[in-house]
Amino acid sequence: MQTVTLDNGARMPLLGFGVYQIPAEDTERAVSEALAAGYRLLDTAAAYGNEEAVGRAIEASGIPREELFVTTKLWVQDAPAEENTKRAFETSLAKLRLDYVDLYLMHQPFGDVYGQWRGMEALNREGVTKAIGVANFYPDRLIDLVLNNEITPAVNQIETHPFFQRTEYQELMREHGVQLQSWGGFAEGRNDLFANPLLAEIGKEYDKSVAQVVLRWLTQRGVVAIPKSVRAERMAENIDVFDFQLTDEQMAAIATLDTGSSLFFDHHDPEMVAWLAKRRLNA
Ligand code: NAP
Repeated sequence: MQTVTLDNGARMPLLGFGVYQIPAEDTERAVSEALAAGYRLLDTAAAYGNEEAVGRAIEASGIPREELFVTTKLWVQDAPAEENTKRAFETSLAKLRLDYVDLYLMHQPFGDVYGQWRGMEALNREGVTKAIGVANFYPDRLIDLVLNNEITPAVNQIETHPFFQRTEYQELMREHGVQLQSWGGFAEGRNDLFANPLLAEIGKEYDKSVAQVVLRWLTQRGVVAIPKSVRAERMAENIDVFDFQLTDEQMAAIATLDTGSSLFFDHHDPEMVAWLAKRRLNA
């Protein structure tokens, strides 16, 4: 598996497996199948409610810990955020049955962001999370965080797919040493992505599916992708994207699909911020 090198020197697989919306009772099987298919990056979160199942699958796999790259995420914490971040991390780590994670992400740019980040910096210094980063940070928030803290987020995991490509933002992140990781790389199938005529046409040339074209396009841009599937045949399909290369013309054609806006929700919408703020975990 190809890797990217994060700002702190850690290496991260370019393609991994995401477990959002996989019910806890299906997650152990799905993760076991993903590991068997060759995935080594697993992306979960406290908010997904399936960390324990991910932990069981990792343990059962017998794969050496150093071959895996495990990411989990901190949900929005109440004050005192620094202490609560530490507690939330310990809960996640215990559920995952691990003694460190490779990447710990702040899930949302809300709540006491700076208190949460200081807590995450402390965990990073302790070595219990090899890298720390953020998710869903728009440029204004990200740059403020970068400029006002000691440790730069190694990763920003944001909605990135053919209809919301984040090309300029990727460049800005690169200037600051922040790796772009895509969530919703298939836009969860919205906008009829899997039947998109342009992507299907390009796929035909290489005998690849639309899903494979999308994952090739992301990874060819240096974007880390974490497709989710509960089906073993799709897991195998989604990791089989390193034996072909899109041409500059095809990359340019895909660029025309960009709408420049989210297909999910706007993190600047006050109602969405209030909804997310009310959502507290018991962790
Ligand atoms: P996604 O990967 O864009 O799409 C998943 C959907 O595509 C599922 O319905 C899946 O169905 C289907 N699918 C997968 N492979 C396919 C294929 N080869 N052909 C046709 N359909 C296929 O959606 P996502 O789960 O939202 O995003 C990926 C990961 O990003 C998540 O699992 C999570 O780890 C992360 N994420 C993070 C955030 C955040 O706030 N940081 C938000 C959302 C997601 P089946 O399962 O039935 O195959």
